[in-house]
Amino acid sequence: MTVATEPIVVHSIIGGKQVLTEKRYTRENPANLKEVAGYAPVNTKEEAIEAIEAAYHAFGTWKWVPVEERIERMRRAIAKVKAAMPELTRLLSLEHGKPLYDAEGEFAVSLMWMEFACDNAKEVLQEEVKEHEKGKTIITHDPIGVVSAITPWNYPISLSTIKIAPALLAGNTMVLKPSPFAPLAVSKVVEIISSEFPPGVLNLVHGEADVGVELTSNPKVAKIAFTGGTKTAKSIMKAASETIKKMTLELGGNDAAIILKSFDVNDERAMRRLVISNFLTAGQICMIAKRVYVHRSIYEAFVTKYIDAANKWIRVGSPFNPNVTIGPVNNAGQVKYVQSLIDDAKSRGAEVIKLGKVIDPDINDQGNFMQPTLVLGCDYNDPIVVEEQFGPTVPILPFDDEEQVIALHNESIYGLTSSVWGKEEDAVRIARRIEAGTTMINTAAVQGLDVRFPFGGVKQSGVGREYGVEGMLTYTETHVINIPTMLELPYIPE
Ligand code: NAD
Repeated sequence: MTVATEPIVVHSIIGGKQVLTEKRYTRENPANLKEVAGYAPVNTKEEAIEAIEAAYHAFGTWKWVPVEERIERMRRAIAKVKAAMPELTRLLSLEHGKPLYDAEGEFAVSLMWMEFACDNAKEVLQEEVKEHEKGKTIITHDPIGVVSAITPWNYPISLSTIKIAPALLAGNTMVLKPSPFAPLAVSKVVEIISSEFPPGVLNLVHGEADVGVELTSNPKVAKIAFTGGTKTAKSIMKAASETIKKMTLELGGNDAAIILKSFDVNDERAMRRLVISNFLTAGQICMIAKRVYVHRSIYEAFVTKYIDAANKWIRVGSPFNPNVTIGPVNNAGQVKYVQSLIDDAKSRGAEVIKLGKVIDPDINDQGNFMQPTLVLGCDYNDPIVVEEQFGPTVPILPFDDEEQVIALHNESIYGLTSSVWGKEEDAVRIARRIEAGTTMINTAAVQGLDVRFPFGGVKQSGVGREYGVEGMLTYTETHVINIPTMLELPYIPE
């Protein structure tokens, strides 16, 4: 099934003006590489500087705009994004490869978060006045300044709006740079939101490393909000260190699902949730369960039932076929990387089992399709187990006791999310000893995500938190104004 369409052309937004460039990215349709989904600009370093200057200039007035007005503008933007959703979800599916239901899910989470941020902005940003025995203290939550937001390709809408809403509501201005692997729908969303704000408040640039380096090193940028790979984050930290920028980093993960012996392998709904937590968006989610440890006493039965559930749920094909649950992988580089991990596991003696059905066999050779696989018989230290695959494959390994599985979990350099499956009290006991930003019980990945609570990683999975009140406050600086009654300290001599 191919969906012929005219390629869309998106532009950058610098100081309220739409900018097109001579050089541009061609974004192919990952389900049919002969089709072009659209074109995005490739901005220069000079244009990145212009965008930063526009945001810096706009900050001078935007920071004083009352929070009520900021909320009102954001609510108007939300309404416009909602109205454009049918067209936008289709564009996201086309350029990304995720099925329509998945694209709709991404928009739903994005809107939920933006609404949460609007609903809570007034209370979160309100100044506190404390009267105490030493006088009075006023605590204000001030905006930081120009925020550089840099986002990856896997969830371009939610990982952009997760930054835009709290940053602008708090009085910051922003320059956002999406990934060239999914630049179209997000540009449309930013265009809609930006049109509700004064020029320069929300800017959009596209580009390569030179643009990224400018956005992360320019002295007029006060904060970096980055989601992407851990390797990229290391160069960003270096670039930002010269001017000590504030930073939120949401990075890679190697999230584990731990299946306890109290897990009921005959619970079909739970098994389905687990399969989804491994393969939604073809496994290209930071918080997908990327390694599964199963208690040895139920391992054989578990694997049999897991394969049954996977074969029922996994239907690979065109993102526009309503029966499809998994589309193509987003880009050829990712296919190559995931395949290299699978080949490596095979060469070490692992068994690789294909899961599900390809229900659009005619398009299989036209795009970046990979049939999902299960990998059995790996060693605990094999690359497919310890690296982040970020694709449609998952290793399942047995473990013998709680101490061993907690150690296996915590040995990782990552700690984004994790999940424990089984009787609640056992699962919670283990969860308390796990090193991760979020641990879910009897569910995993986006199924257990709640935008009302903070989300982020420990160790090399990140710095700081997004979502929740904590995520909103990361776009503010706390300012304390002390008005003591005792103005001079008694122990300082005359
Ligand atoms: P990536 O790190 O390659 O790219 C992310 C963004 O950084 C892109 O916009 C890219 O153009 C830009 N970039 C590249 N080099 C740069 C530089 N030197 N300076 C500034 N910007 C630069 O990541 P990706 O391949 O797009 O996304 C996949 C990764 O993102 C995975 O590791 C995944 O786990 C991670 N991720 C994390 C979360 C989270 O919330 N923790 C969510 C989604 C994805």
